[in-house]
Amino acid sequence: MNKVTRRSFVKNIGLGVGSAAILPTLVSFENSSLLSSIPYTGKKINIALCGLGRYANILAAGLQETEFCSLAGIITGTPEKAKNWKDKYQIPEENIYNYENFDEISKNKAIDLVYVVLPNGMHKEFTIRAAKAGKHVIVEKPMANTAAECKQMIDACNKAGVQLAVGYRLHYEPHHLEIQRLGQEKIFGPVRHIEASLGYNIKGMPADDWHFNKALSGGGVLMNLGVYCVQINRYVLGEEPVSVTAQFSPKTKPELFSEVEENISWQLNFPSGAVGTSTAASNCRADRFYAAAEQGFFELSPAMGYGPFKGRTSKKEFNFPVINQQAIQMDGISKVILDGNKLPNHISGEEGLKDMRIIDAIYKAAETGKKINLI
Ligand code: NAD
Repeated sequence: MNKVTRRSFVKNIGLGVGSAAILPTLVSFENSSLLSSIPYTGKKINIALCGLGRYANILAAGLQETEFCSLAGIITGTPEKAKNWKDKYQIPEENIYNYENFDEISKNKAIDLVYVVLPNGMHKEFTIRAAKAGKHVIVEKPMANTAAECKQMIDACNKAGVQLAVGYRLHYEPHHLEIQRLGQEKIFGPVRHIEASLGYNIKGMPADDWHFNKALSGGGVLMNLGVYCVQINRYVLGEEPVSVTAQFSPKTKPELFSEVEENISWQLNFPSGAVGTSTAASNCRADRFYAAAEQGFFELSPAMGYGPFKGRTSKKEFNFPVINQQAIQMDGISKVILDGNKLPNHISGEEGLKDMRIIDAIYKAAETGKKINLI
C-alpha cells in the first residue's frame, strides 16, 4: 500500500494539485472543506488539548503532521503531565491550564480552539466553558452522554458565535469517502442491507476506569465504539433511520460491567427499506463493514479502527494511501475555520446530535424490548 506524507496528501486535496491522480473519489466529496479554493495564507489554528489521556497522545502526534493547525496549549489536572508535555512539545507556560483556572483561557489570544478529549460525561461542561471563553471547539466522540446534552452544547456555541465540531476522524479518510460514494451514488444499485460491527476484547483496563462508570461514560461499548457503526450506516446510505430495535448480550465480565453494557446489537430501519445490523462488543474482536446492494456488494475489513483499511467490491479490491486520520481531520476542520466558512453539517455538532438521538433510541429499545420510532 502506498504511504504518502499527510502534508503532501492535504496539499494535493486542498489545492487541487494532482488530486485526481492520487485520490479520484475525494473530488466527489462536495462538502469537504479541503476542496476550498481560497489560497492558504500561512496562519494556523492554535489548538489546546483538554484532557491528556490515551487519545490526546494520538492527537498530539497527529498535530505534528498538520499544516493548518498546531499544538499550542494544554489543559490538565495533573501537574506532572503538564511538565512532560511542556518539555516534549515546547508549550509556553502561559498556555497551560488546569480544570479550575481553565476559564482564564478567554484572555489568551494565542489559543483559537479547545479540543475536548475528556471522558464523555465531561464533554458538555468543557465544551460550554470553552465556548463561553470565545474558543472554537472540537469535542471527541461520542459528543456527550445524551442528545439533550448535545443540544445544550450546540446552543452554547451558537450563542458564543464559535464553531463546534465532533472529532469524527473517518470523515476525511479516503476508504470512507469511497464507500459513501458507492452507497449514495448507488454504484451497485440501491443498498438493501448493511452489516457494521466493531469490538475489542477489553484486557488490562482497571475496574475503576471511567469507561465502566455510567456518569462519566454515558454508557458502555455503544458509546465507545458503536457510534462508528451508527455513523457508517448513515453516511453510506445518506439517509436517517426511522426506527430501531436492539438487544443487550449476556455479560461475560459482570464484575467490570455492573453499570454499563458489555455488548449490544441493534437494527436500524431506513426510509428506503434498507436495514443496518450492528454489534458493538467489549469481549471479542470485530472491525467490519459490508453493504449488500441489488447488483453487488462493497466492504471494508478492517473498517473503522485506526487502519490500514482494506476495501473490496463484488468487482475488485480497492485501497488508498495510508494517511494520519487525526492529522487530516484536524487540518480539515482548521482549514474551514481559517477560510472563514461555517463547518459543514457532517462534521458539526449537529452531526453528533443526530448520532446521540439514535444512540438514546438504541438504549431505549434494548431496555424495553420494543421498536423505537425516530420520527
Ligand atoms: P483516557 O482515560 O485515556 O483519558 C481521559 C483523560 O481525562 C485523562 O487525561 C484523565 O486524567 C482526564 N480526566 C479528567 N477528569 C477525569 C475523571 N473525573 N475521570 C477520568 N479521567 C479524567 O481516555 P481516552 O481514551 O483518551 O478518551 C477520551 C475521549 O476521547 C473519550 O470521549 C473517548 O470516547 C475519545 N476517544 C476517541 C477516539 C477516536 O478514535 N476518535 C479514540 C479513543 C478515545
